[in-house]
Amino acid sequence: TRFYTLTDYPKGLPKRDLFKLTTQTLPELAEGEVRIRNRWLSVDPYMRGRMSGIRTYVEPFEIGKPMEGGAIGEVIASRDARLKEGDIVNHMGGWRDIAQLPAEGVTPLPDIDVPEQAYLGVLGMPGMTAWTGLNVIAECKPGDNVLVSAASGAVGSLAVQLARAKGCHVVGIAGAAHKLAWLESLGVEPVSYRNRDADELGDAIHLASPNGIDVYFENVGGDCLEAALSQLNEGARIAVCGMIDSYNAEQPTPGPRNLVQLVMRKAKMQGFIVTDHWDHYPEFLKEVAPQVAEGKLTYKETVKEGLESTPDAFLALFEGGNIGKMLVKLSP
Ligand code: NDP
Repeated sequence: TRFYTLTDYPKGLPKRDLFKLTTQTLPELAEGEVRIRNRWLSVDPYMRGRMSGIRTYVEPFEIGKPMEGGAIGEVIASRDARLKEGDIVNHMGGWRDIAQLPAEGVTPLPDIDVPEQAYLGVLGMPGMTAWTGLNVIAECKPGDNVLVSAASGAVGSLAVQLARAKGCHVVGIAGAAHKLAWLESLGVEPVSYRNRDADELGDAIHLASPNGIDVYFENVGGDCLEAALSQLNEGARIAVCGMIDSYNAEQPTPGPRNLVQLVMRKAKMQGFIVTDHWDHYPEFLKEVAPQVAEGKLTYKETVKEGLESTPDAFLALFEGGNIGKMLVKLSP
């Protein structure tokens, strides 16, 4: 097997040479284990948190040990009664080509007519995050004015579409022109955050949503949060999904200058971690999967080729190098 390890915990944006590709011979398969040839690897912003060396809601990566992450692959050997050779499965043994792991955390893909890598994106953890943040945390209802940051990303692009499907007016913040164009094609009012300070971004959001904001789906933090706070309606709800703007910060970043808007607008702000809500996953799949299969909900992918591209794919997330879900495709 070939797998990535970290040689040290990074400060700031991780340097490329902190990621080391290692080759090892796998031991014989033990009882209850499976061996999987990975076909798709997921890289996600939350992995930066696992590189900090500190336990957050998930254990840090261990220096010199195989890194982990979502992956889709084919079972090539099994000593577990539930899984057999040829099964296509979802599991956490990513950042490597061949994974060998206990069968418990390995799930066969549901029988739905979608490409298998959709289970790392729109029908997987990011999709479930969008659905949970919007419905469970922000209690989004028809007619709400909704704002989403990092709106053309894996989570954001489903959040905006789910809100549109509810009959909401939706504003999406993104960087590059082609991302804004995609958002517009989805019926979303696109707003660029580039070359704008928090006040200017607030003005742009106001133009795009003159009746204010009832729901803010927060993926970015920083100026986006400050701009969103400036446009809140009374009783607004903010689902804090992520704050990618600060993931590479070397010092704690200052809070928004206008946090008092929460008081003025009697607004609610709540963070969440999707794994705590996984009991809703069947409900999510039942609602969202048919719409994805029928093309009513669309998604995009940015695909890098080959295991060696995994660190670059991960690092590109912090530079807006992806539209939709960032994936690594491994050759068979
Ligand atoms: P994305 O596909 O959205 O990729 C990240 C995107 O964020 C980039 O493409 C870029 O888009 C944007 N971005 C990066 N840096 C900045 C910045 N400094 N300012 C503004 N925008 C920036 O990733 P995901 O959909 O996987 O994740 C989105 C968010 O959701 C992240 O914050 C992540 O941590 C969070 N998350 C939280 C979960 C939870 O359980 N709470 C679970 C999964 C994800 P652009 O070109 O528009 O700048």
